[in-house]
Amino acid sequence: MTRLAQWLEDNFDALVQAAVTELSQDEQLRSQVLVSVEAFFQSFIQAAETNDPTPLDYVFSDWVEARSSPTEDEPTGGVVPAVAILKRVTWDHILQSTPPEEALGLLSESDRIYTQSLLRLSRLEASALLVDMRRELVEAKAYVEYLDKRKADFVAVSAHELKTPLTIIEGYSDILRQNISLHNDNQAAGLLDGMSTGIRRLRDIIQDMIDVSLINLDMLKLHFQQIRLHQIIDAVERQIEDVLQDRRVNILIEKHTIPHRTTYADPIRLLQVVQKVILNGVKYTPDGGEVRITARELPGFTDLIVMDTGIGISPTKIQHIFDMFSSQVDVALHSSGKTKFKGAGPGLGLAICKGIIDAHGGNIWAESAGHDEETCPGSTFHILIPMYTSEPQLASNT
Ligand code: ADP
Repeated sequence: MTRLAQWLEDNFDALVQAAVTELSQDEQLRSQVLVSVEAFFQSFIQAAETNDPTPLDYVFSDWVEARSSPTEDEPTGGVVPAVAILKRVTWDHILQSTPPEEALGLLSESDRIYTQSLLRLSRLEASALLVDMRRELVEAKAYVEYLDKRKADFVAVSAHELKTPLTIIEGYSDILRQNISLHNDNQAAGLLDGMSTGIRRLRDIIQDMIDVSLINLDMLKLHFQQIRLHQIIDAVERQIEDVLQDRRVNILIEKHTIPHRTTYADPIRLLQVVQKVILNGVKYTPDGGEVRITARELPGFTDLIVMDTGIGISPTKIQHIFDMFSSQVDVALHSSGKTKFKGAGPGLGLAICKGIIDAHGGNIWAESAGHDEETCPGSTFHILIPMYTSEPQLASNT
């Protein structure tokens, strides 16, 4: 038996007693601590006998497994500090109980075992911490997914609930319009026009909510037809004429760049995307600016490019503009207008555009040198439209 092992056996009870007093101020915990400390010193004797700290590994594994993950109540966490206390208790006791020439040997022998086992313990604790963190991450991810699902459900249910009373309001306002025209009441007709604008806007918002729900549930259905991109652009041009009246932004369409060959797409949905991106260009460009629409042909695709001379998008924001509710953060800028300068909406438009273009098998993205309302660096949106030669068999189409 080594000198250290012998010394430990001779001083076992006193060491355990001193260690328990140091480690546990709480009377109730003392019996639990006693069991652990006894197991520790028994393994320590074995380690001293064999000159190998492995027996301590089993004790440490039990301790690491039993410990709770570090919390605010237990900021230091872990068992390394407890082992450091055991080391100090051992050293104090060696110094008190043995003459200096003998103590030196015992100190260095025990120091070697403590150093080796503390190293192994740190590794053990680090990997246990990693396991804890992974588990917490998985739990957090599951919770975020659960919240996302609840949000999507809420949007879907609200949209359908809102649609019914809106249809009733629309029906009554139609009847009212007929009555008013019978009586030639101009003042009432004007009031009704205001009401109709509100109803149309509400219908647009509800339709956006329904689109978002369909995209979330992967249930967006496309009705593919053979089309030419010129038809889409012409239709957009006609439709945005009215909404552009309040703004002085020049729309320049480079029609010669748009290919004449046909593709298969859902014309109503594609029109929705192109119109939204162009109107956004107008919305975020000050009066006197320009929105330019051009196209370039790529193998299998047409890249429809919408460039504006507007306020641009910051690098942090640009990563999120195609996410649902991306603009909700800035409630102060909220506006129900489609082209009002910087009039942010509910932040669904681009998310819907992405859902529609993804469902076509295409891609949509944005580029900008940054956000600056003084210098207006502008933004460029790319809508990558697949040029199919026959009707594609996609999930959205079957
Ligand atoms: P919103 O309903 O708020 O217009 P969108 O989904 O259409 O939502 O756009 C998301 C956000 O992307 C907008 O709030 C805006 O900050 C930014 N954005 C979109 N288009 C442009 C653009 N052409 N120039 C600058 N910012 C833009």
